[in-house]
Amino acid sequence: MTDSITIALSKGRILKETLPLLAEAGIEPVDDIDRSRKLVFPTSDPNVRLLIIRATDVPTYVQYGGADLGVTGKDVLMEHGGAGLYEPLDLNIARCKLMTAGPVGVKAPQGRVRVATKFVNLARQYYASQGRQADIIKLYGAMELAPILNLADEIVDIVDTGNTLKANGLEPRELITHISTRLVANRASMKMKHRGLHPIIEQLGAAVDRRRND
Ligand code: AMP
Repeated sequence: MTDSITIALSKGRILKETLPLLAEAGIEPVDDIDRSRKLVFPTSDPNVRLLIIRATDVPTYVQYGGADLGVTGKDVLMEHGGAGLYEPLDLNIARCKLMTAGPVGVKAPQGRVRVATKFVNLARQYYASQGRQADIIKLYGAMELAPILNLADEIVDIVDTGNTLKANGLEPRELITHISTRLVANRASMKMKHRGLHPIIEQLGAAVDRRRND
């Protein structure tokens, strides 16, 4: 019997870069994902279907076995904690940095620092590792506003070109970690559906290697 496999993909910028990699592994959605409001898509491989969900939900779906594989950013995985997940592959796409940032020309305060972020766990760990006391303020978006409105001294956020920070009068301060998109797998699926998952992981790995060598 052939295993049926569900892969959870992050919608948005990661999806655009993930689909060509999947296509190289022989998996292509049969519908136009951009034009559909569906959440589940059959693919050119009759045993494989795709879920298109929010990046932050991908680790949860994979952890609880709603999906066998998932594609999401290392930032999201670190914030989630990674329980119940294997991380077999760095897809090396959507590369960016997790950084602290604050108003241009202003130094971070010496003592306790107020930090606005959606990455509360990551931020807590980072400031603790630096031996700095931090009050972490959870926001769901538009972190850049927080220092401007004196809600926080600095933010912890994703930086790619730095244009978003600049447009809001902020500048990067410290690099917390480099980020890229990862393939994750449910631990039980890796054992139970090994025959189905192994070739997909292999072919995705080969597609990533080809790009590295180009
Ligand atoms: P930028 O202006 O190029 O520095 O882009 C920064 C903004 O884009 C951040 O606020 C992020 O929310 C988002 N962003 C950029 N790259 C990524 C990525 N690889 N994954 C998730 N969000 C990203």
